Amino acid sequence: MTDIKSLSFDGLSDEISKLNLPKFRCNQIYQWLHKDGVSSFDEMTNLSKSLREQLSANYYIADCIIEDKYVSALDGTVKYLFRLYDGEYIETVVMKYKYGYTICISSQVGCKMGCKFCASTLAGFKRNLSPAEMESQIHAAQRDLNVRISHIVIMGIGEPLDNYDNVIRFFKAVNDKRGLNISLRDITISTCGIVPNIYKLIDEKLPVTLTLSLHAPNDAIRSKTMPVNDKWGIDEVITACREYADRTSRRVSFEYTLIKGVNDSKECAVELAGRLKGFNSHVNLIPVNDVEERGNVRSSNKSVNNFCDTLKSLGINATIRRTLGSDINASCGQLRRKKKSGD
Ligand code: SAH
Repeated sequence: MTDIKSLSFDGLSDEISKLNLPKFRCNQIYQWLHKDGVSSFDEMTNLSKSLREQLSANYYIADCIIEDKYVSALDGTVKYLFRLYDGEYIETVVMKYKYGYTICISSQVGCKMGCKFCASTLAGFKRNLSPAEMESQIHAAQRDLNVRISHIVIMGIGEPLDNYDNVIRFFKAVNDKRGLNISLRDITISTCGIVPNIYKLIDEKLPVTLTLSLHAPNDAIRSKTMPVNDKWGIDEVITACREYADRTSRRVSFEYTLIKGVNDSKECAVELAGRLKGFNSHVNLIPVNDVEERGNVRSSNKSVNNFCDTLKSLGINATIRRTLGSDINASCGQLRRKKKSGD
């Protein structure tokens, strides 16, 4: 069986001609899959029953089925635990901002990167998500909430630059006018710093926003929490980000999760400011979310504020991330792990 929703328009068009169907069928089917986001061929009501049967005999639609759903009583943030066709689970979060709805999607089932503060990596890596499985997270959430999602961040479970080709195909699919028609400028990709793929992404010339999970001002501290840093050190990764900003004219953001006694001192802030001097970037400060097994302690509000003030006084754009959905464990990786261990 072929994953029909992961095909590009041209790929679908080839399949349609293989089935000896007229060309206009391709437009119809593409629209059902990508604009309407249907989860079954039976919903394609302008196709005959026999054609729908022919399609279901040859293809499947990779869907996301709601296994659990949590709605924050504080701010309306919604978190889904989705089940995939093979019984694996992923997590997706939808947040409401002034400018519209933003979805935070997963790019892999689990993660290989091993960051010490993160829950996603604890339950192990299973597999990459297909372009369709990334897109279906948006369709399933839109269907359930009856809203239009306008912004995407790839900051859920997984490392998107470790699933490079599928992520690029996903960008092209959601940007297609015949589909969700989401502007590339409204898409943010977050990476722990797979440097060669940052350069590859620059060459794609897609105006998506890049966010780097930095979390430390130097190699010694970064290597303690992020194994990826042993492969591509902090100088190399920041140079790649500067190149990204220069070549795409998009401002790069840095995520900096504050962990008490690890990376939240004044010296750390001063060192970080030194590294980012003259770089038109933005630092997002996030007090670490508690993950039981990780034993990291969140920095006090006072340290977070001091860290932010130090950066600003040294000319660095910095803000403290507003926490949404704090009552529903909205930080990713925790639900999948609980599901797997049967809690
Ligand atoms: N692999 C990608 C995207 C997924 S992680 C990346 O590393 O960027 C999304 C963001 O959440 C990253 O910045 C990650 O470092 C951060 N994060 C992970 N666990 C966290 C925790 N316990 N508290 C706060 N932020 C966390």
